[in-house]
Amino acid sequence: MERTCAFCGKQAELMQSHVLPAFVFRWLRKRSGKGHLRHTDKPNVRVQDGIKQPWLCGTCEGHFGQYETAFATKVFHPWHGGDYRIPYREWMLKFAVSVSWRVLKYARGRNPDATYSEEQNRLMDEAEARWRAFLDGEVPHPDKFEQHLLIFDFVEKTSFDDLPNNFNRFMTGAVTLDIVGSGESLMTFAKMGRFMIFGIIQKGPNRWEGTKLHVRDGLLKPGKFVLPAGLIDLFRQKASFVSAAMAEMSDTQRAKIDKRVQENLDEFAASDQFAAIMADADMFGVDAVISKYLMDKS
Ligand SMILES: [Zn+2]
Repeated sequence: MERTCAFCGKQAELMQSHVLPAFVFRWLRKRSGKGHLRHTDKPNVRVQDGIKQPWLCGTCEGHFGQYETAFATKVFHPWHGGDYRIPYREWMLKFAVSVSWRVLKYARGRNPDATYSEEQNRLMDEAEARWRAFLDGEVPHPDKFEQHLLIFDFVEKTSFDDLPNNFNRFMTGAVTLDIVGSGESLMTFAKMGRFMIFGIIQKGPNRWEGTKLHVRDGLLKPGKFVLPAGLIDLFRQKASFVSAAMAEMSDTQRAKIDKRVQENLDEFAASDQFAAIMADADMFGVDAVISKYLMDKS
């Protein structure tokens, strides 16, 4: 059946497109050794893949796929392998915009509790059009609808109080997306493990430093970053949500997971997920992590 492609508007057979790139979900599955994905909303349900939508034609899916491959092979996997100085070219901003465009398209209107001002609704239309024009090569840059990238590494100490005790696991492991903001700021938020992409829709009074992606080239490396203060509340809230969803997991399900981890203990001990659990144990105490191995699965 032919339908309208959400990106180019042509009539075509639509692909089942990932809202967030498929390589992220492959990584997530491998991350805990022989792990399987579970939906945060329904922790007892195993899912083989992330959210998919029938919305792009084969040509558009192919374009997005090129940026995804560049980001996966040049940034995402090398960084996990310990390469913390990564130069990037034009593909980086294209990838970020393609992600932000998808998040906006998918998340807008999906949360019944979210209310937007008239100006914010207008800006969402503008951002969507500008990002599409940039991806199409009609305009040279996203203009005021900037892209910011934050790469999170484990924290042992922080100046913030009241962080949920799965904070490191959430920040390094969870995969999630949303449109976030306040009365005077708005942005898309895509979290792919420790990589977080923010697509600015309404900048507001927020200060960002060291996170903006450039059009032509740049260098990704650890450093000092300034983020809007409200984001820590967002992270805290989302991490608590994962924690609460996992706490509702049935005993049978929990026992199965414990058994699987015990059977694959060597593999698990070497995994990135184990490192995140240890970071939480250092920061919040061992009680905070026992029998909660999979809290950061999204
Ligand atoms: Zn298309």
